[in-house]
Amino acid sequence: MRVTMAALLALALGAVAPMVRAQAPDKPLDVYVIDTEGGKSALYVTPTGQSLLLDAGNPGGRDTDRIMEAIHAAGITQLDYLLLTHYHVDHVGGVEALAQRIPIKNFVDHGPTVEPREQVQGFQQLWASLYAKGHHIVVKPGDRLPITCVDGRIVTSAGQVIKTPLPGGGQPNPECASFTPKDITNDPENAQSVGSVVMLGNFKLIDLGDLLWNKEQELMCPNNPIGTVDVYMVSHHGLDWSGSPTLVHALRPRVAIMNNGTRKGGSGTTFPTLESSPGLENLWLSHWSYTGGIEHNPAGVFIANVDDNQTIANILTAPPRGRGGFGGRRAGGPAAAPGGGAPTGVPPAAGPAAGAPGQGAPGAPDAGRAFGRGQGGPGGPGGGRRGGGFGGASTGHSPAYWIKVSAYPDGHFTVTNPRIDFTKTYEARTAR
Ligand SMILES: [Zn+2]
Repeated sequence: MRVTMAALLALALGAVAPMVRAQAPDKPLDVYVIDTEGGKSALYVTPTGQSLLLDAGNPGGRDTDRIMEAIHAAGITQLDYLLLTHYHVDHVGGVEALAQRIPIKNFVDHGPTVEPREQVQGFQQLWASLYAKGHHIVVKPGDRLPITCVDGRIVTSAGQVIKTPLPGGGQPNPECASFTPKDITNDPENAQSVGSVVMLGNFKLIDLGDLLWNKEQELMCPNNPIGTVDVYMVSHHGLDWSGSPTLVHALRPRVAIMNNGTRKGGSGTTFPTLESSPGLENLWLSHWSYTGGIEHNPAGVFIANVDDNQTIANILTAPPRGRGGFGGRRAGGPAAAPGGGAPTGVPPAAGPAAGAPGQGAPGAPDAGRAFGRGQGGPGGPGGGRRGGGFGGASTGHSPAYWIKVSAYPDGHFTVTNPRIDFTKTYEARTAR
């Protein structure tokens, strides 16, 4: 009898096992948020192996090396799509070097630049010569990216916004009532940013490049055409020229990922807006943010790249300088973020030698101010967005870690910090 039961059990398991396997998640959509020190580059690899690179970081080679590390890790040998959100140096500076290192099939943009003075001189000409050898696609809101397996939609481009709702979108946006415009006239290319939403089954991710604050209201009011999202790639590196509550709170992201630099992004209202966003489970950062300090940085496990604890402590506890100071209240005590200790994980790959560029980036305001790493000293007032003294892409560090998202059609996804081999799983949301 016992034998029979065992045999039955074995039979049952044998019958069930293939079903279980069939229900197991298919290959994910992988997104590598590459550390470009406050620039932008993100590699998307679809379940069928197609690739899309969103922007190519700064000039000088450092960011190109890091992009190539991600490309190699993903096991791809060509870029099916290179999409430029807009033409600022921290997004397109690395295009020329990248094109020399990997074949690119399709070149996607919003149309010509609106800035007569190019941040990367001669870039429009270079770009045209590149896409002449491939396929050039100028996108407008509502367009679908012709990538396989995922549903990629353009929601903003060339200053225009989508008005036909995406699946799950179209509701009135109550956040519109409290929207306060900002007077931003510099760097109009930001407002031209190609914004995209990538959906895989129940999973939804939005990336609006450096789309500006007022354009967010055009996109999201009076109705929210996007609906809610699982992942919000924090606009504009976390600078507070973008990322209004009207956008963020209506999107209700579960996870926000900020491609900041140590002193670029996380300024002004950005952290408070994210922290008060309904339903936000975690904020992930490319870098420990001196702008955010110990008050706003998340736990170290959610930060891909950190300075050593002593450097952080020295900078945070250095005497204030300049006008204002800290108003008498100092954030003393141990400045170390939890988990911010020495790296224990295996780096994605040996990074390029630290120190690289130094040349290249012109006085691009959007590239933020470069600060050397290391001894820091009193870091001065963070941000420095309008600071003219941009001396090239910051020297950066090695190795540099990306943040990797892996998303599945049922809506569950993981986010990984390879610096410490930490992965968090976000179960599928039952209802949006
Ligand atoms: Zn930017």
